[in-house]
Amino acid sequence: MNLPVFTTPKELDSYLQCHRSQSIGLVPTMGALHLGHQSLFDRARHENAVVIVSIFVNPLQFGANEDLDRYPRQLELDRVICEQAGVDALFVPTVESMGIKDLLTQVIAPLAMMSRLCGHTRTGHFQGVATIVTKLLNIVRPERAYFGEKDAQQLAIIRRIVADLNIPVEIVGCPTVRAESGLALSSRNQYLSPIGRSQAAVIYRSLQQAQTLAALQEINAQKLLAAVTTELDTVSEFQLEYLELVDLDTLQPIDTVDKLALLAIAGRIEGTRLIDNIIIGR
Ligand code: AMP
Repeated sequence: MNLPVFTTPKELDSYLQCHRSQSIGLVPTMGALHLGHQSLFDRARHENAVVIVSIFVNPLQFGANEDLDRYPRQLELDRVICEQAGVDALFVPTVESMGIKDLLTQVIAPLAMMSRLCGHTRTGHFQGVATIVTKLLNIVRPERAYFGEKDAQQLAIIRRIVADLNIPVEIVGCPTVRAESGLALSSRNQYLSPIGRSQAAVIYRSLQQAQTLAALQEINAQKLLAAVTTELDTVSEFQLEYLELVDLDTLQPIDTVDKLALLAIAGRIEGTRLIDNIIIGR
């Protein structure tokens, strides 16, 4: 196997020394790679001379009662997937080499963006994401970095940070890849039983109800949200955490869809927390 794997920023930097004149694409991940990740690799492969994938299960973005310890880790398999996707190098930094310590400087995006949606229950999550993504961008210094629309709040926050801090990178958002049932692919789907997976399809099915209404020119937020709720109610096992319609860029709630809007859901099936969204008005 030829795919180089680097475990410290210094090692990666030595490798990148000879590629700095070429376009570099970075795809940050937490591993347990699936076809959703691979769609980002393919896009990066298409648009850059050099593709770097990072795998880092970032302790800063997990809350005290979350699944940091049991988060799926499968480095050997991930390495094969990356090699087959034509990735040039894997960056799998150790926690120590990422300098995670009590006195780490942290990046804070606008609170209005971080505290909504997943921020209601995942306090500190987006600060952890913002800090590590900023570190990765500074370590790799890519021309482009690739993120999934599946994590739309994360994508909006990263776009905001890059603009506000003048980080010289193009942030590329990539569409959500789904199973045939419509369930958005996620490393956490591994936690679900076959029954749980089929129940979880209600999430996207319910979002599609709003999509259909929006296609018929419905712009009233209450009506769009009501259509989603009606469908969600058909699966009693789904425990809703939030359902919100917000502005795609600012993440602030809206009453009327008059520009691109994000319809986002989070909830649990069999105790596993799942998120999904669609963009309305596109
Ligand atoms: P993760 O490993 O879950 O942190 O995800 C790494 C990147 O892959 C993030 O930018 C995610 O938004 C993206 N991603 C995860 N699942 C999907 C999916 N089903 N479709 C597209 N992108 C995804």
